[in-house]
Amino acid sequence: MIKGLILLAIILTIGLVGSVGAAGKNQKKNQKIDLLENATQVAPGVFYLGESMNKGKVVDGYAFVHYAKGSKSAARPKPVVDDKVDMYKLLFRGIKWANTMQYEVNPDDSGLGDDAVMTTLGASLDTWDTAITGDFELFGAIGTSDKTFVGYDNTNLVMWDNLGSDGIIAMNSFWFYRTTKEIVESDVVFNMQYNWSLSGESEKMDLQNIATHEFGHNGLADLYVSKSAELTMYGYSGYGETKKQTLGTGDISGIQVLYGE
Ligand SMILES: [Zn+2]
Repeated sequence: MIKGLILLAIILTIGLVGSVGAAGKNQKKNQKIDLLENATQVAPGVFYLGESMNKGKVVDGYAFVHYAKGSKSAARPKPVVDDKVDMYKLLFRGIKWANTMQYEVNPDDSGLGDDAVMTTLGASLDTWDTAITGDFELFGAIGTSDKTFVGYDNTNLVMWDNLGSDGIIAMNSFWFYRTTKEIVESDVVFNMQYNWSLSGESEKMDLQNIATHEFGHNGLADLYVSKSAELTMYGYSGYGETKKQTLGTGDISGIQVLYGE
């Protein structure tokens, strides 16, 4: 517990040090943020961030890292036998939101227009919501934000920051109650070191493609077997790719297992 808090404090400190400075944001973003520096990799591309408290209950933090295909630092999972017909994997033991959630978005440093970013992220969220036709809607409204820190702070934030040049396209860090497995926060960071596109341009990362994948981490884990390569929750992406904008059968089955049809 204490150890976990210290770990979190270190992560917080890194974030704060990064965000202070007279020259402001641009100077900050010259420095790579490294949320993973003090985290423990528990599975390929999955990092444990430590524990914290929410309303007197323990929450655990994890991050899913999304790598560019073929990049040096990409997760190299051992081949696994995954003969599930539906091809989805839940986050550990079916971790999910208990209620509709919403994101705050900071489009700074995306290189894209603010309105276009909001519209595109909205489309990515709707893609998942449409698959859930019960009375539970996963995503509520998204609103703009001026927040720049990514960490456990009771805000679901989507933003761009400097995640370095080792092939990390984006990252989703999330926290959930250890006992009930209810998610209490999810933050998505896109790497500003990449050029981002709204139309699948080559040599850029398509925002809707990557965002739809990241939002799937509100219950679904990455897939690395080659037969899942066409699914939204496949663990790698490449330049100009747009196939993750639409869900595959496995993606739909997975989200429906958690949030109802
Ligand atoms: Zn992922």
